[in-house]
Amino acid sequence: MDSAQKTIGREAECSGIGMFRGESTSLHFKPSPLNSGISFVRVDLPNRPRVRAHVHSLSSNYKRIFLKNNEAEVESVEHLMAALAGLGIDNIEIEINGREVPAGDGSAKLFLEVLKKAGTVELGGKKKGFIVKTPIMVSSGDASVMAVPCEKGLIFSYTLDFNGSFIERQTYDIEITEENFCRDIAPARTFGLSTYIEEFKRLGLGKGVTDDNSIIVHEDGKMTKPISMKPAKLRFPDEFVRHKILDLVGDLYLANVVIQGRIVANRSGHSLNVQLAEKIAQNA
Ligand SMILES: [Zn+2]
Repeated sequence: MDSAQKTIGREAECSGIGMFRGESTSLHFKPSPLNSGISFVRVDLPNRPRVRAHVHSLSSNYKRIFLKNNEAEVESVEHLMAALAGLGIDNIEIEINGREVPAGDGSAKLFLEVLKKAGTVELGGKKKGFIVKTPIMVSSGDASVMAVPCEKGLIFSYTLDFNGSFIERQTYDIEITEENFCRDIAPARTFGLSTYIEEFKRLGLGKGVTDDNSIIVHEDGKMTKPISMKPAKLRFPDEFVRHKILDLVGDLYLANVVIQGRIVANRSGHSLNVQLAEKIAQNA
């Protein structure tokens, strides 16, 4: 990754419905100065509160992780954060007129397209970096994610394994460069296991799930669109493990540093991912 901090070249916008609440929101991206970081501004709330996209803003409820500053909350940020990480954008203000970031097609494509169109510009100072010198690990049950040293760059290795049910074991290794991220990771879409979908519905979430933004995997391994239940076509044979890396890239970017290291993950999800991001932020 290059070393100069970046922002976007000009303002840009996108909108859509959030996957969990089904409410429509718009994002307005604005260039931001050196060392200002990444922040959301809730323009629909009195006094337009700012919510920093940083591990210090993390909060959770009913298995959902979100960013919070007092009463202002922003959720479903991970695919947008991944797009910002992939493009090396460290400074940006994102006005949002609701609580949830739009889902787009369930991947990072929507954000990548709009941010690429806005272009990036280098700012005067250097990026904040973090070189992994000793292993940092978090785990829970049989899931784990760790950062270990590597000579250069940022490499992700992910193993997706549901013990033989749902999806056959998938592993994926990739060095995150802008080119690799845009081509191999960003288009991978959200998926859900049929059993989790029921739990989501009970919690009143998943109201914005459509045939165009997610894939359901059934216990027998069949993949369908979530509403019509028509067969779903994948973008990559191993789209699911790629999506897990997309989430991990976005979650770790909440540490607000460029990591030099290898991230080795086994079955990890958002809650473990952000625990590793917190540890990296503490060490950085
Ligand atoms: Zn995701």
